[in-house]
Amino acid sequence: MDRPLEGVIRRFEESFARRPTHAAHAGGRVNLIGEHTDYHDGFVFPAAIDLRTAVAGAPREDGVIRIRSTRASDEAQARVGALRIPVVVDWRAYATGPFWALGEKGYPVCGADVLVDGDVPLGGGLSSSASLQVALVGLASSLAGAALPAPEVASIARLAENGYCGVPCGIMDQMASACGREGHALLLDCRTLGWEAVPVPSGWALVIADSGVKHALGTSEYGRRQQECAQGLEVIRRRHAGVRALRDATMEMVQEASGELEARLVRRLRHVVSENRRCLEARDAMLRGDSPQMGALLAASHRSLAADYEVSCAELDLLVELAAGMAGFLGARLTGAGFGGNTINLVASERALLFAETLAESHASRTGRRIDTRVVRPSDGLSVIQV
Ligand code: ADP
Ligand code: MG
Repeated sequence: MDRPLEGVIRRFEESFARRPTHAAHAGGRVNLIGEHTDYHDGFVFPAAIDLRTAVAGAPREDGVIRIRSTRASDEAQARVGALRIPVVVDWRAYATGPFWALGEKGYPVCGADVLVDGDVPLGGGLSSSASLQVALVGLASSLAGAALPAPEVASIARLAENGYCGVPCGIMDQMASACGREGHALLLDCRTLGWEAVPVPSGWALVIADSGVKHALGTSEYGRRQQECAQGLEVIRRRHAGVRALRDATMEMVQEASGELEARLVRRLRHVVSENRRCLEARDAMLRGDSPQMGALLAASHRSLAADYEVSCAELDLLVELAAGMAGFLGARLTGAGFGGNTINLVASERALLFAETLAESHASRTGRRIDTRVVRPSDGLSVIQV
């Protein structure tokens, strides 16, 4: 059996004193490149990773849903058919959201006892929220007897996060978490939801470094970036009605619109348009195993996020700067929405472990603060089993 599932099944039994009927696990994710492009119908290039959320459950006849987590002291409780959008969004909202979203989409939902376990850092930009909700949609649909294909699970999990938890996220996290493939990154077209699994060259390893800054500030700024881009898009659309989203815009169009836009808005547009292009170039670089080009694209992405989209912070910039001189380094950038969370480092495989240690040490000697760094592996997405 899958290793993450043995633990959650045992803990379910300890917690509920019964046997689970189903269990599931789904990946956290890193985004290699393509940041703040998903909600512009653009391209992203994430991978599910071996930090996972695992869930186990058994149906209940009385329509009650009880969810416990090894990372929370209280229990989430709800009743099938009586879930209302919560006023306070805490972990219980994340846990019950998938049941609400399944109902909204017309899928059957049954009462259940559920236990959640996982090792994706919370609020670290590695998408613990999507991995939790993808795993729960996979579990809840199987408990109700209607297992769903992974992309549909992703879309229901996104509805839970958008519509129930009130987080205006795109589809990237859920798609990566649900559809990831071992040893691959997914080039995902956020307009069509079509994706291509691209093998990560065996000589490349991924090292994440946690800035230790929670990305809480991100939520309000995230909404602001969406508004800023919507304003910019409107100006472009006056000349180019065929541009439905920034994914369709070119640098020339941004240039044309710049006379009518504040400089800040021009920078926002420039990030999105250039990042989309970088994302496609990164796919080609990966297919060629071209590490200098891939490294250059990661560096350009970070600069654009910092200077144009203004979603970096001093801690993330420092991590990128420290990594750049180290043995095995190929490229680095912030990953996730920014304002904290992790950086992703592309590193020569044979140097990966040492790189992770050295980066933590060099950060400690610069700041006096220890941070977590670790090698992560591109992994499979959602897996659901009958126990
Ligand atoms: P990220 O997705 O980057 O980790 P978010 O703020 O989007 O950060 O989501 C984190 C939230 O998801 C947590 O604060 C918690 O409410 C919920 N969550 C994720 N995993 C778990 C878990 N294993 N147990 C309980 N809550 C979880
Ligand atoms: Mg999240």
